[in-house]
Amino acid sequence: MTTSLCPQPGIMDIALYQGGASSIDGQADPLKLSSNENPFGASPKAMSAVAEAAAGLHRYPTTDHAELRSAIADVHGLDPDRIICGVGSDEILTLLALAFAGPGDEVLYPEHGFSMYRIFALSAGATPVVAPETERRVDVDKIIEKITPATRLIYLANPANPTGTALDTGEVTRLADAVPANCLLVLDGAYAEFFEGYDGGATLVEARENVVMTRTFSKLYGLGGLRVGWGYAAQHVIDVLNRVRGPFNLSSVALAGAQGAVRDRDFVDTCLQENSEQRVRLTGGLRQLGIACDESQANFVLARFANEPEALAADQHFKDAGILVRLVKGYGFPDALRITVGRAEDVSCVLEALASFKGVE
Ligand SMILES: *Cc1c(COP(=O)(O)O)cnc(C)c1O
Repeated sequence: MTTSLCPQPGIMDIALYQGGASSIDGQADPLKLSSNENPFGASPKAMSAVAEAAAGLHRYPTTDHAELRSAIADVHGLDPDRIICGVGSDEILTLLALAFAGPGDEVLYPEHGFSMYRIFALSAGATPVVAPETERRVDVDKIIEKITPATRLIYLANPANPTGTALDTGEVTRLADAVPANCLLVLDGAYAEFFEGYDGGATLVEARENVVMTRTFSKLYGLGGLRVGWGYAAQHVIDVLNRVRGPFNLSSVALAGAQGAVRDRDFVDTCLQENSEQRVRLTGGLRQLGIACDESQANFVLARFANEPEALAADQHFKDAGILVRLVKGYGFPDALRITVGRAEDVSCVLEALASFKGVE
């Protein structure tokens, strides 16, 4: 059949996003370490809030998310009026591109940046531009070199996915200083909580008109299935985003769950503590087996093998052991696997599988 329908320029250049695998043929209950989810699940308080929300399913949710915004503002010490909530931080990131970039504009991000950035740029009809990294680290100077009068948006995940490396606040500030006033610097803080001493860019947002911070409930909070994220920016940016946001973008169930989660600080603290301990164990264990691995500031590590065939063989070996990890060829790392930091017993399984892969008993 032929059609005379024609999507907007750029749309057909989008390759479908590939998520982390969630099943292995013939394995009932695999250990899923492929999507950087919280290995402890969600806070029990979030789960009971979700269950209670069932009684109100016939009602439309609020459109202004006032309660959730105020809970987030309390916890982080922010201005609730300048918070916007979205269906995952993905929604905020995509609305930013749609509202601020279009045909002829450039959207800039680092070489190994989150694969969604290219999709956001193309959805808006803008041109994706990639800045090289240096040794799997974002290079602020290389980003600055790529800024042109057409650059409207710069996406920077800090800590970065899939490398786990991070820029310190000084480097992020140096970049913010170099971004022209007609360009937004979007600090994607999906893993910000895991990076000790980093505020996700909140202080920079307060000090500048053109810096946006995004955060998510999908990683640390263990609510990936609920789809809640948020952004923080100057009032004029938030006002723009609210015009393009759907009024009922977040369900009543999602709002309830996120509110329960954000207020449960004990659960958050426990998860952070466990993550930092197990990340040290996983990193050390990998290196002991001769598998290179940068220092990660997130809830995953990037394990680098000798070459692509070895990485593929290790991936298969993991699958045979019932463990799912993430192939990251699409991010420019054909020789590596991204492994989410799990509970102590999960890290033990990973290290045992790798020891047998390497023939170490
Ligand atoms: C997981 C992730 C996100 C967003 O996830 P949401 O579930 O949409 O909030 C954003 N950026 C990076 C780098 C991520 O890894």
